[in-house]
Amino acid sequence: MGTVFTSGSREHHVVVVGGGFGGLQAVSKLRRAPVEVTLVDRRNFHLFQPLTYQVATGALSPGEIAYPLRAIFKRHHNVTVLLAEVADFDLDAHELCLRSVSAVPAPERLGYDTLIVAGGSHYSYFGHEEWRLHAAEVKSLESALAVRSRLLAAFEAAEAEPNADARDAWLTFVVVGAGATGVEIAGQIAELARDTLRHDFRAIDPRRARILLVEASDRVLTSFPASLSAKAERSLQRLGVTVLTGRAVIGIDAAGVTLDGRDRGAERIASRAVVWAAGVTASGLAGRLAELTGAERDRAGRVTVQSDLTLPGHPEVFAIGDMVRVRDVNGELVVLPGVAPVAMQQGRYAASVVRARLRGREHGAFRYRDKGNLATIGRAAAVAEIKGIRLSGFLAWAAWLVVHLWYLIGFQNRLLVLIRWSFSFATHGRGARLITGASTAADHRDG
Ligand SMILES: Cc1cc2nc3c(=O)[nH]c(=O)nc-3n(C[C@H](O)[C@H](O)[C@H](O)COP(=O)(O)OP(=O)(O)OC[C@H]3O[C@@H](n4cnc5c(N)ncnc54)[C@H](O)[C@@H]3O)c2cc1C
Repeated sequence: MGTVFTSGSREHHVVVVGGGFGGLQAVSKLRRAPVEVTLVDRRNFHLFQPLTYQVATGALSPGEIAYPLRAIFKRHHNVTVLLAEVADFDLDAHELCLRSVSAVPAPERLGYDTLIVAGGSHYSYFGHEEWRLHAAEVKSLESALAVRSRLLAAFEAAEAEPNADARDAWLTFVVVGAGATGVEIAGQIAELARDTLRHDFRAIDPRRARILLVEASDRVLTSFPASLSAKAERSLQRLGVTVLTGRAVIGIDAAGVTLDGRDRGAERIASRAVVWAAGVTASGLAGRLAELTGAERDRAGRVTVQSDLTLPGHPEVFAIGDMVRVRDVNGELVVLPGVAPVAMQQGRYAASVVRARLRGREHGAFRYRDKGNLATIGRAAAVAEIKGIRLSGFLAWAAWLVVHLWYLIGFQNRLLVLIRWSFSFATHGRGARLITGASTAADHRDG
């Protein structure tokens, strides 16, 4: 198909790439504007990434944290959803080059008047792509399910393993990276082992599992004040997590992890279940936009946008969210965290610039309003910094619950997750402890 798809009307056509946190807000803010909007995503759903680690540890099911994009905008007739992958940009022609996904035919090109790109980011393995094979991450739904299978299969393998050393390796879980995601996963694996699974096995005692959280810097949760990092570390220790700070991972293979022990030399840890929660790199779309516009790119692959979130020389092209960094009106780089509120505020901002332009009005520069930082560690344990107020323990955990339920898309998902969490809190259970996927033995046998 060599066709160019336009909106089919004479309205201003806004194309939004990516139905993640940034893209979704941009489209929502344009849904009543006098524009035609096309939302392009290579997935047919919005994924609530802050809870993928709960899918990875069997606490939630995939459908509870993902919501179909079409369903979100079904009542908004100026919004069209297109399942396709953006392969390239033709900025001179104001067109996107598309590729089909899941064998669903897609137009080769899609024209726009305004383009908002929110392609997000993915985990990087610090130039060691071979580590990806042995250390899965939880960025996508598929990878979260792969982690879930690996974690649960490790307990099964330990139960069946007669050799004590090999059994210990199966029961050693290593989480790499002690940012919010790493801390949350380590805490959840500890609860899985100590609480949920404790009566499920006969040959092994899951409570004897070792959970190691490895971090290259000198404390966990470096985006929080040091006092909250210390509290988080104590909470992790209470759950049975061993925190190894100041230790860099220098090797990962099928049999374990090698750490740089600084003055102690390299240390080898036998483990069959490694979870990666370390470096993040921007979507390849950021690099392509940088090449085409001459915009700067940083080491994390982010393209630098101007203070109105547009690309140099292209006021009609916005880039937002995890894939960008911003230069303010004074030419200073603004360092913003790679979190959902930044992407959401940028999405809303880009939409309001489009609306202002249509009315012939000026719009000020983008300013981020930091509403705080939250991370949960386990049952009734979390840390939070909200407008300078530092919270920990139950209060922080309650704030975490409310914020996550509030931002989860879809009333049904909110209700289901609330019921799941209440039930799990009361019973210490996890309803989604399923080993699934192509790597299971049954699949190999049947295939
Ligand atoms: C495990 C994990 C836990 C996190 N926890 C938190 C948290 O607790 N709090 C918090 O604030 N933030 C958290 N974050 C960060 C937060 O999820 C991101 O900052 C946020 O998702 C960024 O939004 P975005 O719109 O830039 O990108 P995303 O939300 O990642 O959306 C990008 C979208 O673009 C689509 N896409 C990408 N490339 C293409 C292409 N070529 N063609 C078509 N579509 C494409 C993707 O399918 C996706 O739908 C977490 C992230 C992860 C991975």
